[in-house]
Amino acid sequence: MDCPKCESIFEHITFNHIEVDRCSQCRGLWFDMLEKSDLAKMRGAESIDIGDSQVGKQFNQLRDINCPNCKHSMIPMVDKDQFHINYEYCPNCFGTFFDAGEFRDLKEHTVIERFAQMIGTLRSNIAAGKKKK
Ligand SMILES: [Zn+2]
Ligand SMILES: [Zn+2]
Repeated sequence: MDCPKCESIFEHITFNHIEVDRCSQCRGLWFDMLEKSDLAKMRGAESIDIGDSQVGKQFNQLRDINCPNCKHSMIPMVDKDQFHINYEYCPNCFGTFFDAGEFRDLKEHTVIERFAQMIGTLRSNIAAGKKKK
């Protein structure tokens, strides 16, 4: 399988027994149907995204690509929580392609969001405590 953005070969990497393809050149990440949602939940999974986000940003401009897996044309997508993360999605085999740095970015947000929720809960607990007095 070749990278849909720079046409270099993908290398197989594994994280917690999940196999992912990473481009040997631009370091973009290719996820099969379920790999992304599984990995997005796993602590430390962002370590697979070793690429330079500046390089990723350049390749992010290239959005008219064909699926490396089934050759169907891919659809440019925007992450529902983070609008600056643009990835490509294959409507045929449901694979997704993330440019270097994008998966890391996605994971970072998840952590910050969880932290914000924690603070939110804490605040409402304090508020509830005050009301009791
Ligand atoms: Zn590439
Ligand atoms: Zn496909």
